[in-house]
Amino acid sequence: MVQIDAIVIGSGAGGAAAAWALAERGASVLLLESGPAYDPFSDYRLDRPDWALDEFPAKVPVFNRQTVAPSQALEPKWTGLNSWNKVAGRYNRGDRRLNGGYSHFVGLGGSTLHFTGEAHRLHPAAI
Ligand SMILES: Cc1cc2nc3c(=O)[nH]c(=O)nc-3n(C[C@H](O)[C@H](O)[C@H](O)COP(=O)(O)OP(=O)(O)OC[C@H]3O[C@@H](n4cnc5c(N)ncnc54)[C@H](O)[C@@H]3O)c2cc1C
Repeated sequence: MVQIDAIVIGSGAGGAAAAWALAERGASVLLLESGPAYDPFSDYRLDRPDWALDEFPAKVPVFNRQTVAPSQALEPKWTGLNSWNKVAGRYNRGDRRLNGGYSHFVGLGGSTLHFTGEAHRLHPAAI
């Protein structure tokens, strides 16, 4: 029988990094992922010069799939800070924050499979 020290659920940036850190310290880690695996050579066709123009060939529908918490309520005292323009008025006329169509990915690697490639620099205090 295999001894498991830790189970990590989800193979996205968070889960994969946690699993890697644990495994590097000698732990036996079981990483569970609910989505399918992708093969960059057959699934993304990286051999074609125009590959980046294609939609990501998701095997599980992802559009507007949200794993974020419900939208926060907007505090009336900060109304003056909300986005607006002279022609259309306030962008958000509701009383909660708007969630865009943020498409979290379901697959081995999680949302890193189709992220945009920006590498945000951490604040020195967070390192
Ligand atoms: C379109 C897009 C562009 C982005 N561009 C950038 C960028 O340029 N730069 C940047 O820094 N960040 C970017 N991000 C954000 C970044 O990709 C995410 O913040 C990061 O990948 C989230 O990692 P995560 O591990 O928290 O979650 P996810 O990547 O969402 O991973 C969660 C994983 O857990 C799996 N899972 C969920 N529930 C279960 C369950 N019950 N059992 C088993 N498995 C489960 C899911 O299938 C998924 O694979 C982008 C995100 C998107 C959607």
